[in-house]
Amino acid sequence: MSEPTNQHIAVVGGGPGGYAAAFLAADLGMSVTLIDPEVNPGGVCLYRGCIPSKALLHVAKLLEESHQAKDWGIEFAAPKIDLARLRSWKESVVKKLTGGLGVLSKQRKVHYVQGRAAFENSTTLRVTEFDGSQESLTFDRIVIATGSRPAIVPSLKLDTPRMMDSTGALNLEDIPGSLLVVGGGYIGLELGSVYAALGTRLTVVEMLSGLLPGADRDLVLPLHKRLEKMFDSIMLNTTVASIEDEGTGIRATLRAQDGNTQEKVFDRVLVSVGRKPNSEIPGLEKTRVQVGPRGFIQVNKQMQTDDPSIYAIGDVVGEPMLAHKASHEGRVAVEAIAGHKVAFEPNAIPAVVFSDPEVAWCGLTETQAQKENREIKVAKFPWAASGRAVTLDRPDGMTKLIFDPQTERVLGVGIVGVGAGELIAEGVLAIEMSALARDVALTIHPHPTLSETIMESAEVFLGTSTHIYRPKRG
Ligand SMILES: Cc1cc2nc3c(=O)[nH]c(=O)nc-3n(C[C@H](O)[C@H](O)[C@H](O)COP(=O)(O)OP(=O)(O)OC[C@H]3O[C@@H](n4cnc5c(N)ncnc54)[C@H](O)[C@@H]3O)c2cc1C
Repeated sequence: MSEPTNQHIAVVGGGPGGYAAAFLAADLGMSVTLIDPEVNPGGVCLYRGCIPSKALLHVAKLLEESHQAKDWGIEFAAPKIDLARLRSWKESVVKKLTGGLGVLSKQRKVHYVQGRAAFENSTTLRVTEFDGSQESLTFDRIVIATGSRPAIVPSLKLDTPRMMDSTGALNLEDIPGSLLVVGGGYIGLELGSVYAALGTRLTVVEMLSGLLPGADRDLVLPLHKRLEKMFDSIMLNTTVASIEDEGTGIRATLRAQDGNTQEKVFDRVLVSVGRKPNSEIPGLEKTRVQVGPRGFIQVNKQMQTDDPSIYAIGDVVGEPMLAHKASHEGRVAVEAIAGHKVAFEPNAIPAVVFSDPEVAWCGLTETQAQKENREIKVAKFPWAASGRAVTLDRPDGMTKLIFDPQTERVLGVGIVGVGAGELIAEGVLAIEMSALARDVALTIHPHPTLSETIMESAEVFLGTSTHIYRPKRG
């Protein structure tokens, strides 16, 4: 039985999880209050995450292509970078999108409160508004969508603007001569690529043995090769032992796994070593909400916490900390509150690294299959055999499909190459629809496009790929 939808719900946090939840709740007829410190909804993703980083990466790609154009017979003069204009363009993108969300809130009659919320009990919030005024508001249900913040390494804390987290890096105060990026995850590589394209000499240190831990190694390899050319140095199995503010720069002592150390001075340092959930919400202890050992709020598949009137979604409930996971969870929470029979149990959540080339994957990875001792079959299609990739002069890509050898079902998809982030959606659909190799191979893809590489990977699995020659056996 569905509960009546005329409930009054509060959503704490206006990121992609929070605003998606608030908007659906309003569409389902609920009375909705959305609370966030910013002037409009958007959260980390729109103000200091996905959107500003992608705007800057677009510019970085243009700069990189302008160099490559020389090979095609077109030579551009060295670019003149007007940093103030670049910054204001990035800010205008953020303003346009967050302003649009403000309009959508109003159109849906969502009561948007610019402020911060604290719990008085399971159904009452004390909201401190922007102007300092406070009020207590009671709701039928509360959805926590407070997101996450950059993780801080105590030994890498120095009180100087030369030290940056992702938010500081996106502010683009200047184009430093040299930048040390601590952490070879997606945020460090994306923001590092922006600075490198603008002319900064870049060093990345990663304590593990490869960039992008979590992605299959064969997907990371083409990216690593290209970044090696773009960056000054990529130091794996290396940690930052200490840092010191020298006034004119930051002296960093870098320690390799074998114990060897070297000192280098950088104009700026970007620390991007992961994110922490914002679960320390004042008064949360007055509710029955449970927080796990890593700081994530514990929820069931309906996104309900241990307190029946409180739901939680997005970065604050766990990995992967991605905007699209947050918004889908938000919609599930609201449907559950509305009494619909729903659960958040996707077969595939895509992950995209918007580097150049892009790396994207979804569903089962090869690494995961190996860890689980799971029998799989992998079919790969190198982009050197893709007409479209060659017309773009970007054959440095690869598409691979991971199959269940018995049922021939697609279990996972991995892509490295330009536009991989757009292509991966087809992989997600294939997995969610339980597509077989034959379904993908028989789906007519437009020519010449990079999407054909997905179809041809399925053909590789079936042994019938047009553009890959397979000598006959025997
Ligand atoms: C540089 C960078 C690039 C990224 N790029 C991508 C990308 O390309 N794709 C992708 O999917 N993800 C990306 N992410 C991750 C993405 O931003 C997050 O996964 C996403 O924003 C999480 O959404 P959320 O709704 O859980 O919370 P958030 O977006 O973190 O929003 C939470 C909001 O809650 C507010 N809040 C916190 N406490 C309170 C309180 N007590 N009262 C009221 N409000 C409160 C916060 O101020 C914030 O506005 C990126 C992140 C960073 C930092």
